[in-house]
Amino acid sequence: MLYDKFDNRIIITGKLVALDPIHIGSSTKNSLNPIDVDNSVLKDSQGRPVIPGSSIKGLTRFFFESVLRNINESSACNVLEEKECCTEKTDVKNEIKRLRDKGSHEELATYSYEKSCEACKLFGGREFAGKLMFKDCFLIGDVKLEHRDGVGIDRKTGAYKSKAKYDYEIIPKGSEFEFYLLAENLDEKQMKYLDFIIRHLESGNLSVGGKVTRGLGRFKLTVTKREVIDIESLKAELKLKEGRNV
Ligand SMILES: [Zn+2]
Repeated sequence: MLYDKFDNRIIITGKLVALDPIHIGSSTKNSLNPIDVDNSVLKDSQGRPVIPGSSIKGLTRFFFESVLRNINESSACNVLEEKECCTEKTDVKNEIKRLRDKGSHEELATYSYEKSCEACKLFGGREFAGKLMFKDCFLIGDVKLEHRDGVGIDRKTGAYKSKAKYDYEIIPKGSEFEFYLLAENLDEKQMKYLDFIIRHLESGNLSVGGKVTRGLGRFKLTVTKREVIDIESLKAELKLKEGRNV
């Protein structure tokens, strides 16, 4: 089921709970160099600390792909590498080009979707957006951020600099963040995938942000509400309201 027709929508809301302190730096610039780590956590324009929805989506996709590949190597492509992406294979690419020039929008969308791997169908690929939307997760309540000392590392030698300490900001363990996930038009198999993904987010085995090797970043999801709207219930509701068939 593609985008032009509504079939179903699942909205999952809940909280992400920090099992460790979390540090998501406000800049990824030079993030591979430990001495250049940006020391404040990412915040929105109003100063609210946030875990970007794209970070949660990214780490969820990474895990999902690794499971899919374990079952069947071809069920998850490498979307980041043009040559290894499912919709970039020569015959598929040629047909997409042909449909883009001569086909209808629906034909193009249907063909691209059918030729996509399981991961791209759900999370999005080079030809279309995915079926899952993760909203940014804002910190709940008035939490006092903490600071930690880190030890600077000499750029040339890689050795610790005894006097080159730097401070970095962390969101303390136990902090809670808003969680909102919207899934649209999932087929039966994809609904099972979604349940699997949610269970994994609930397991507390995922980490987000920087300094994960220093024991930071683990979080778990607590689902507070799972709302399912499908076309049949929507039709019934409209019928009830209007007292006639729609
Ligand atoms: Zn793919």
